[in-house]
Amino acid sequence: MSRQQRAARHWAVIAAAGQGERMSAEQPKQYLSLCGRTLLEHTLRPFVECPALSGIVVVIASGDSRWSDLPVALDPRIRAVSGGAERMHSVLNGLNELAREAQATDWVLVHDAARPCIDRADLERLINSLEDDAVGGLLAVQVRDTLKRADRAGEHVMATVEREGLWAAQTPQMFRYELLHRALDGAVRTGLKVTDEAGAVEALGERPRLVSGSPRNIKVTLPEDLSLAEAILTAAPGGA
Ligand code: C5P
Repeated sequence: MSRQQRAARHWAVIAAAGQGERMSAEQPKQYLSLCGRTLLEHTLRPFVECPALSGIVVVIASGDSRWSDLPVALDPRIRAVSGGAERMHSVLNGLNELAREAQATDWVLVHDAARPCIDRADLERLINSLEDDAVGGLLAVQVRDTLKRADRAGEHVMATVEREGLWAAQTPQMFRYELLHRALDGAVRTGLKVTDEAGAVEALGERPRLVSGSPRNIKVTLPEDLSLAEAILTAAPGGA
């Protein structure tokens, strides 16, 4: 490992600028209440408690009036910036905020605010597993279910998809700063639609490393996911 890599710092970008339309709630899902706190506060907790992080950028929607009311907004390691039209634009805005401080080989952990059950163990496993990697990688879980491809109407099975070697991508995804910035900036410029950081990095011909995640790290997308997230948080060591 080079001297430059040994000195690499870690930063986090939390994507919290979505509207959460599939939630059909009156407020964006990051501000819904889970076990007495907002979903976003649960999401941020392990990041705030992670001593390896030099700074955390929370990307919020422009016009978001709730963020500054959260006590966590006063944490000196956290700053907020406005997001963009799609997740990839929001993450790029978060990376741009770090442009003056982050070195090319520093690490950036990008995480969806919509995954409030992420825990310290997940973060540490990701950070430790990728320490010596030149590119980076992501938390992911091996697909266990048999997969079916549906017809356009989503009513009938067209085919069974071989699940061997298939993984479901989660966040955080952790990449070297310069590589990730170049990948996302390139995707935005060329109009390439990517729904995660790994997708943008793959488009540069790199092969992100898979780090085994936990099935507890669910993404809250639909209303019924909230009660599952509450059950996971309540059962976690230290509780919600
Ligand atoms: O909509 P979806 O659940 O895929 O969004 C994943 C994450 O990306 C959410 O945490 C959401 O707040 C964030 N996001 C964003 N900017 C957007 C759209 C989504 O930060 N324009």
